[in-house]
Amino acid sequence: MIWASHLTVGYALAHVTGMNPVAVGIGTILPDLVEKIPGTNLRHRGISHSLALHAVILTLFASIPPLRDAWIGVVVAHLLCDALSPTGIPVFLEGGQNLVLFSGRLRVGSPMELALAAGILLLALLVVQPGSEGSFIRRPWGKLYEEQVIDKREYLEHRFSMF
Ligand SMILES: [Zn+2]
Repeated sequence: MIWASHLTVGYALAHVTGMNPVAVGIGTILPDLVEKIPGTNLRHRGISHSLALHAVILTLFASIPPLRDAWIGVVVAHLLCDALSPTGIPVFLEGGQNLVLFSGRLRVGSPMELALAAGILLLALLVVQPGSEGSFIRRPWGKLYEEQVIDKREYLEHRFSMF
């Protein structure tokens, strides 16, 4: 996928889940950004796109909300989207087994890719209306605190909770 498509899917993901959209946005392009660091000589969709590597990193960052949100963006809005391409992404290491979803029929930058990304965004906007109380996944802890439904201790404990 091109970056615009990754970012579109990432925004839809953040919108539906209530995750930090900036963190998710950075995550959606991170595997490709890493490849562009001078001197790394990383192959495109090589180790920087390893599903197992990023699953481990996500597990390590599970309790650090901005990093957790960024790595959910990496896995969902980047890796799973790249897995729709003909070459897919490495499951463990480059040169090993690749994960290819839906027979890899999605060509990079094709009208089908753009339509898929736009469709995912449209669906996300329909599921969670802008200006609504929040996502159906993340509870509106700030609003619950303002309305004195929960106390300050509960707010502080849950404000970054996913559920
Ligand atoms: Zn990529």
